[in-house]
Amino acid sequence: MRTTRAYGAQGSEKELTLRTIERRDPRLDDVAVRVTYCGVCHSDLSALHAHAADGDGLLVPGHEFVGEVVAVGDAVTRFAVGDQVAVGNIVDSCGTCAMCRAGQENFCAEFPTLTYGGRDRHDGSTTLGGYSGEYVVRENFVYHRPAHLDPAAVAPLLCAGVTVWEPLRRWAAGPGMTVGVAGLGGLGHLAVRLAAALGARVVVLTRTPGKADDARALGADDVVVTTDDTDLARAAGTIDLLIDTISARHDLGPLLRLVALDGTLVSLGWLGPVSLETPDLLIGRKSLASAGSGGRPRTQELLDFCGERGITADVEVLPSAQVATALRRLAANDVRYRFVLDLSDLSAA
Ligand SMILES: [Zn+2]
Ligand SMILES: [Zn+2]
Repeated sequence: MRTTRAYGAQGSEKELTLRTIERRDPRLDDVAVRVTYCGVCHSDLSALHAHAADGDGLLVPGHEFVGEVVAVGDAVTRFAVGDQVAVGNIVDSCGTCAMCRAGQENFCAEFPTLTYGGRDRHDGSTTLGGYSGEYVVRENFVYHRPAHLDPAAVAPLLCAGVTVWEPLRRWAAGPGMTVGVAGLGGLGHLAVRLAAALGARVVVLTRTPGKADDARALGADDVVVTTDDTDLARAAGTIDLLIDTISARHDLGPLLRLVALDGTLVSLGWLGPVSLETPDLLIGRKSLASAGSGGRPRTQELLDFCGERGITADVEVLPSAQVATALRRLAANDVRYRFVLDLSDLSAA
């Protein structure tokens, strides 16, 4: 076994504390990654709350990280020590079901192994996440990352980025299409940037007029203030693909009425019951869809695209010792647009 330092919560602990954890020695197809930066995702916050309520075992969050390969198993072919890599929110899958064969390991019929809080398919242990100095992972779920981009700003591409990239690609965002983005947080700000880079016309939908300048700076061509009836009327029926990243329960009707003939609303930010009136789908033959995370092919495609176009997330980097501050501020929506932990203070600790 290898040991490393990590921020974890044991049992019903509500706060993460620095502790020593074990990592497996690399199996034949494993690589060991020294983690340098790990993004702070809303899921991490939810997982910590859920874990405190259930109180079982050790939780180490973190599922969008970058780092450097420090060891490889004997059968590893795609990576060598020193490679700059990235890991997202799944670290294994069955590899044989229809979803896996289609490159959608994120929807694996046997459920993908999550980067933390998952169950290792070989030894049954609980996976511990990227708020740590080192991670050991199958090479199939490790990605080459563009080495010329700021590594801290690349980390959020692995969860927030691929979550919006898959629907943008599935519904072929590009020239001649209008993409709407509702919610301007970790997911939303990347959706704006990526849709604009793909050549689409981008409209940001926000309740806050004060966000208009930020939206345009990210690449939005237009901003619709959803609390302004004049704005809503102006935008009605104009959006071909609406990426909804709002993370609280909300009525889909007002958003659907902005969607164009045969257009699609993709609900990404809210996992739970939704309310809508079917006439809002009927009028204009609109579709309601969803998506979550990404498979291996699209994840590497996103990193390659961002490397070519120089696209990264807007991040606020904090030393990992300030993880509690990052989580508290994230809970208050006080971040533009993603916190990233710098894990280099762990090796000094
Ligand atoms: Zn995430
Ligand atoms: Zn599968």
